[in-house]
Amino acid sequence: MAICDMCGNDYPRSMTITIGGEKNSGGVFDSFECAIAALAPRCGHCRCRIIGHGVESGCNIFCCAHCARAAGHDGLVDQAGHTDGGSGQWKVFDDSREGVVE
Ligand SMILES: [Zn+2]
Ligand SMILES: [Zn+2]
Repeated sequence: MAICDMCGNDYPRSMTITIGGEKNSGGVFDSFECAIAALAPRCGHCRCRIIGHGVESGCNIFCCAHCARAAGHDGLVDQAGHTDGGSGQWKVFDDSREGVVE
């Protein structure tokens, strides 16, 4: 049993998060939701929580390249190599192996 640093819930399946391997850098949480609320950085432009990798420019972090550019950090793109703006079609990365011809 461990008590969530965010909400105080004493929960048997709590998790401990460390950041960069540093002791006391993260915390103990009863849910991903509480961990995100406590630890996830906010986008430097739109202020949303960044729960993926985000994009970093210098000491700043943003949710996406658009926000980085809006904050004056040029040079970051969400989409590389599409001079036509993209085809509008996503390649779907399917993790099922069914129907794969090798
Ligand atoms: Zn909690
Ligand atoms: Zn943003």
